[in-house]
Amino acid sequence: MAKYTESKCRLCRREGAKLFLKGERCYKGVCALEKRPTAPGQHGAARKKVSEYGLQLREKQKCKRIYGVLESQFKKYYLRADRMKGITGENMLSLLERRLDNVIYRMGIGSSRAEARQLVTHAHFAVNGRPCNVASYIVKAGDVITVKETKKDNKFFTEIKQMKVGAMPKWLEFDPESLTGKIIALPQRDDIDAQIAEHLIVELYSK
Ligand code: SF4
Repeated sequence: MAKYTESKCRLCRREGAKLFLKGERCYKGVCALEKRPTAPGQHGAARKKVSEYGLQLREKQKCKRIYGVLESQFKKYYLRADRMKGITGENMLSLLERRLDNVIYRMGIGSSRAEARQLVTHAHFAVNGRPCNVASYIVKAGDVITVKETKKDNKFFTEIKQMKVGAMPKWLEFDPESLTGKIIALPQRDDIDAQIAEHLIVELYSK
């Protein structure tokens, strides 16, 4: 599978926004965007007039990078959202939010989506009792996500058991003691905190 291997902080600098790609580091004073809030490269600091297309493209890139999805897969989310009832942009964000790696991250297991994805692909979880190592698995309302019995004694998860549950999106529930999460409802636009102007992405793809 294709994978982005360059500096993650460079992506934030390119988008001019904190995308929180590096876990705890993003909340400390060492954030690269806070130190150098200009686009990367020799001409990064130069002011440029951004066209309408440029704005739409940047919004799409920002969204893709937040969720760690590559172009072809991202376009598939858009096409699927476009076939669904309701507002395409909101449907697309809801689908991205329902990815298993994002759900694990939202439950507070993993300090970034990349770490959560690694935990999923390393087969630590089961969905409704069945092992699932597919980061792009789309959860449904009522799904129950558990850490596999064989992984529960692992040091990482014993530490999670001690953790206090922080602010959790209202469509999700997580019990650290039993390492079990539940999807209470499907995420709505208001539940998704990402600062994304999804209508710009829809405009870009509908051209
Ligand atoms: Fe982005 Fe985090 Fe790097 Fe800051 S530390 S630039 S938020 S990835």
